[in-house]
Amino acid sequence: VSYLDYNATAPIRPEAAAAVIEAMQSVGNASSIHQPGRRAAHRVDLARRQLAALLNCSPGEIIFTSGATEANNLALRSTYIPGRPLVTSPVEHPAVLETARMVTVERPEDLVLLPVGSDGLVDLNAVEQVFATRSGGVVSLMRANNETGVLTDLRVVAKAAREVGALVHTDATQIVGRLPVDVAELDVDLLSLSAHKFGGPQGVGALYVRRGTPLPPRSLLVGGEQERGLRAGTLNVAGIVGMGAAADVVRRDLSEEAKRITALRDRLERLLTCALPNCRINGRRDQRLPGVTSITFPGVPADAVLAAMPDVAASEGSACASGAPTPSHVLLAMGLSREDADSTIRFSLGYVTTDAEIEHAAQAVARAVTQVRSALADGSR
Ligand code: PMP
Repeated sequence: VSYLDYNATAPIRPEAAAAVIEAMQSVGNASSIHQPGRRAAHRVDLARRQLAALLNCSPGEIIFTSGATEANNLALRSTYIPGRPLVTSPVEHPAVLETARMVTVERPEDLVLLPVGSDGLVDLNAVEQVFATRSGGVVSLMRANNETGVLTDLRVVAKAAREVGALVHTDATQIVGRLPVDVAELDVDLLSLSAHKFGGPQGVGALYVRRGTPLPPRSLLVGGEQERGLRAGTLNVAGIVGMGAAADVVRRDLSEEAKRITALRDRLERLLTCALPNCRINGRRDQRLPGVTSITFPGVPADAVLAAMPDVAASEGSACASGAPTPSHVLLAMGLSREDADSTIRFSLGYVTTDAEIEHAAQAVARAVTQVRSALADGSR
């Protein structure tokens, strides 16, 4: 099987798996003061430093969570202030978009969705327009889109937000471990990530909170005082340790890996556009994550293509949306028709992807698309 669904989840890194197993075999609650507890706390401290090194922040600025969904919820629920704007975009992951809708349900005028172009870029000038008449609040824009890989230049956003006292949050789930992420350079106040997208285990993630950012405790979970009162609940020591180990590995060869994966992605696009000349690549091609491509095969339903190539693991839009009968909200926001959105497949590559897999996948996709297309033509004859 060619596994080309890294944006849904990446294979666990061997170093992370080993760290998880080792941590799981030791008893200890990181909040306990006896020796086993302190040993667990030490493991968590190391992971916090490893993750902080990947993001260029200090370890005390990291709050461990159960993943990016929780980090996004925590970020928005603790920064939105009724009466102040919550600025986001229609191409965000549901963990941001639905949370934003929910917290503003009684004041829908607070929710501002910035316009998105057909290339998937959010219109950043619109941020300045919003802040020409309103101030404070929070801006939440993803650094990299999970369906198209399109990147957002957050520095422009941060500058405009800073001038009016608004906080900036970014969902960086798809970029952490794939391209360098430096919170100081991005100039954001809050950043969400999830371990399983970069080779850590599933069910663990983090929210970076810039020192000095005022977050009220208990805005999401009510309970113990873990994570400075911002995230109650016994720490997932094994998960956190696995995430730390993965962070440590990716930090070492990030740029080399990104180059290799970009070349593989470009090769897949070349092979497919050659074999199927009317397919279309979605999103701004020169401003994307290394390993992602979203391709529309006009008139050919993606679910039929995926079913016709069981040995290629790719996805329709995003994994979170598939299974649901609605077409991708991201592609619709970029102006694709419903039919084109339903005829789009996302391929996402990563650190284990090989040349041979790309070769094989390109052939399988071309065959499957041709087969489905001629079956449809036969059916309508
Ligand atoms: N944000 C983005 C951009 C994502 O791609 C995902 C995972 N699909 C999430 C948030 C949620 O991550 P998790 O399911 O690990 O909580």
